[in-house]
Amino acid sequence: MKFDVLTLFPEAIENYCDVSIMKRAKDNGVLEVKTINPRDYTLDKHKKVDDTPYGGGAGMVLAPQPYVDAYESIEKLENSITVMLSPQGEPLCEQLVCDLSKYEQIIMLCGHYEGFDERIREIIKPKEISVGDFVLTGGELPALCIIDAVSRKIEGTLGKIESAHEDSFSNGLLEYPQYTKPREYRGLQVPEVLLNGNHKEINEYRFQQQLERTKLRRPDLYEKYRDNLK
Ligand code: SAM
Repeated sequence: MKFDVLTLFPEAIENYCDVSIMKRAKDNGVLEVKTINPRDYTLDKHKKVDDTPYGGGAGMVLAPQPYVDAYESIEKLENSITVMLSPQGEPLCEQLVCDLSKYEQIIMLCGHYEGFDERIREIIKPKEISVGDFVLTGGELPALCIIDAVSRKIEGTLGKIESAHEDSFSNGLLEYPQYTKPREYRGLQVPEVLLNGNHKEINEYRFQQQLERTKLRRPDLYEKYRDNLK
């Protein structure tokens, strides 16, 4: 899986991808993460990439030329998708992450300041994705959410791909509670059923916990799960 990230702050992407599971996946050749800085493509003699908004208003708008030129410099694979990180986009969810993981290459445009000149959207025609109904200062965190979540779906990123299959949302429910050693901590015991080695009973207990947790914490998900069973 190849990620090409257009960003004015490449180090924000690189630093995250250079630790832990992401780093191991990169070192093993499962992932490739490349950053492209639109500032390297600006034709402005002062290296500017933004300007004041026509019609007035606060803040600076990202100019089309550096972004479009930087985008056009990227080599596109056949099975590729272009994503613009935007609070106005489709909300990111587990299904969208799964759909994105089918591509060979994801090109991402990270905005900053007041966001993109509208013509960048009109020329590049990206899929716009939001990480929630709130506004961040830049698209780097949302891009990292996509890189991280999509990478977990790729064989070879996690030690065991099954761990992703048991996570919250994978079967439409939240995950069951997890415990590790010691058996007792500050008077709190690990549930007895997890200690008896009977995997049928353990699976039943965990499934019940998933149902109860989801019903309590996310009634919307629980209803959807029930509807899908009909
Ligand atoms: N003026 C824009 C608006 O109201 O729609 C917001 C611009 S925001 C301050 C700067 C950049 O951060 C955006 O261009 C986008 O790339 C990123 N961003 C901010 N919030 C986001 C969100 N919820 N999801 C995805 N990207 C976001």
